[in-house]
Amino acid sequence: MPKFRGAVLREPGLPRPYTESRPLEIVELELPDPGPGELLVKIAAASLCRSDLSVVTGARVWPLPMVIGHEAAGRVEAVGEGVAGVGPGDDVVLVYLPQCGTCVRCRGAEPWLCETGGAANGKGELITGGTRLTHEGEALHHHMGLAAFAEYALVAEQSAVKVPAGLAPGDTCVFGCAVLCGGGTALNTAAIEEGQSAAVVGLGAVGLSAVLGARAAGADRVFAIDLLPAKLAPARELGATDVMVAGENAVAGLREATAGGVDHAIEASGTLEGFELAASLVRRGGKVTTLGLPGPGVAHSLQLAPLVVSGIDIQGSYLGSCATQQDVPRFIELYREGRFPATALVSHHIRLDDINEALDRLADGEALRQVIDFD
Ligand SMILES: [Zn+2]
Ligand SMILES: [Zn+2]
Repeated sequence: MPKFRGAVLREPGLPRPYTESRPLEIVELELPDPGPGELLVKIAAASLCRSDLSVVTGARVWPLPMVIGHEAAGRVEAVGEGVAGVGPGDDVVLVYLPQCGTCVRCRGAEPWLCETGGAANGKGELITGGTRLTHEGEALHHHMGLAAFAEYALVAEQSAVKVPAGLAPGDTCVFGCAVLCGGGTALNTAAIEEGQSAAVVGLGAVGLSAVLGARAAGADRVFAIDLLPAKLAPARELGATDVMVAGENAVAGLREATAGGVDHAIEASGTLEGFELAASLVRRGGKVTTLGLPGPGVAHSLQLAPLVVSGIDIQGSYLGSCATQQDVPRFIELYREGRFPATALVSHHIRLDDINEALDRLADGEALRQVIDFD
């Protein structure tokens, strides 16, 4: 295939502003034809997630150089030997954890913890083994099996989920990370039930997806909380019944309004303060579910006696406890019914060349999802 363009990270931790240090360089890339179990996907839209920023800052260490990007939608151009269920011309949403189906976690019905997919991601390789991307003969790593900030991606078939034709890729791309993590946490990990109450702390695209998930689960009261007042209006539009600026008043107000706290608190800010706030909002016997990814050194010390006496349940949620091949179609169906208006999770549409500017907006907290349009 001909050369195509994509965004490579060579050195993490460059100084702000990124419009000047330009951590992501747009270069010409090459890929071979798809091998067994692999697909070549023409990317239509890809969006920036906070996890991309943690690669750029070096907060999370990845093998470099790497083509980054892990939330995208596109169309299958070609398939390798043995690929069934998806073929050329099919629209797909890409997912950032390929679930192998055969490891101990996949066999135990916890594919969101897939050991094989996690190990391949950690090495910056495909689950089918090794890397495929090159730039002038130099091998490049693949971010989370996708390397989606590029015009084409070569991915394992487990990294793609077929979706109905004709949907807007600028909407569907956010289903690969934001919707699975936020919506999945509400519906799967927390397993909010009809008539329960929930609070979501941190109203980025993932937190807003958790608000949508809580509503889809039938929660009758959903509190949406953020430090920034500007983040509250979108949450209300998406179905939050109560919105609050984080702080002392939020805790007191919520406790009073719910007779002692909510059934579920979801932490989606990726900060220690957010976690502590979430933990202070649940009732006795309530559940705290945390999905944010703070820096590796961030720790919380737990007072054990109050934990026992209050009977609170604290759990982590990775990939929203989703089985991607089942859960992406499930969320896409909610989207088609108008119950998961993903358009509201997107604040900017940009071009690939403007990606460093987008990193600045992301770091400044000035954006929800920023979608790179390739067509
Ligand atoms: Zn992400
Ligand atoms: Zn597995």
